[in-house]
Amino acid sequence: MSGERRGGEFELIDWIRRVGPAEPPDGVILGIGDDCAIVDLSSEGFALVTTDMLMDGRHFRLADDGAEAVGYKAMGVNISDVAAMAGVPRFAVVAVALPRAIAVETAQGLHKGLKRMADRFEVALVGGDTNAWDGPLVVSVTLLGDTSPFGAAPRSGAKPGDVVFVTGPLGGSLFRGRHLRPEPRVKEALILAEAASPSAMIDLSDGLSSDLGHILVESGGLGAELDADAIPIHPDAVDQSQADGISPLDHALHDGEDFELCLTVEPELAAKVMASPPAGVQLHRLGVIAAEPGIRLRAADGRTWAIEPKGFDHLAGGNP
Ligand SMILES: [Mg+2]
Repeated sequence: MSGERRGGEFELIDWIRRVGPAEPPDGVILGIGDDCAIVDLSSEGFALVTTDMLMDGRHFRLADDGAEAVGYKAMGVNISDVAAMAGVPRFAVVAVALPRAIAVETAQGLHKGLKRMADRFEVALVGGDTNAWDGPLVVSVTLLGDTSPFGAAPRSGAKPGDVVFVTGPLGGSLFRGRHLRPEPRVKEALILAEAASPSAMIDLSDGLSSDLGHILVESGGLGAELDADAIPIHPDAVDQSQADGISPLDHALHDGEDFELCLTVEPELAAKVMASPPAGVQLHRLGVIAAEPGIRLRAADGRTWAIEPKGFDHLAGGNP
């Protein structure tokens, strides 16, 4: 960066400090402005680490969505990843490549959005890196969290016979911009970790068919048999269906960025949570894990058919 740009960056850091908390948040020994932040993670569990990068034209459109919404989403998708491990999000650092012509206003808008989401989950912003260039906006958030006392829920623990659940209705997140307003299921994941000890869990960022597919592959090449009528369909998927002719069920199966949790639970525990559902969390039972690979849907009339993962592929072409 040039000297002039450096000045801009220092002013920005100064501004971020001014709008930040007067007292250092819980666990922050040294915050924004030094070479590193110093944080105190819980000594009881392990540290969770996740990072997610969002790019203009791929995950958002800056000109339409605005910088604040982008910041809100960028923080939310990372918090959702910590939720998917049944963890507690704690500290975030943010790296941004700002479009040079609108660098300062974009940085300030982004920061507002990042902060608004971080505050909802008591996440402290402890540092970052700002750059300006002639390219589009890129923002990358790295988040540290604590594992919960109930243990982490990796993708790899599903077994044949386990019951598959999701925590809310799916599909159509692009239709009204709901993908910009993730509701990370942190509290719900902790409730479920305590009540149901999920054998595997993932947050639905790429779509049910893809993300359940990740659980099946990571769990050693398993399959799933789902009841078509049990897939909870979001009203946005119904409305989008009227606009694009793709069925609401297909939207629910394949659209991404619902940020609900998909989890598998050992049969006895599943029966227990269904008999007395834990308060504060929606649970929809979709079906069961099977030994035979692939995802199969079953209609009420007994007809079955296979579905292919058709969710968001990060290395494929195309835009959101
Ligand atoms: Mg995830």
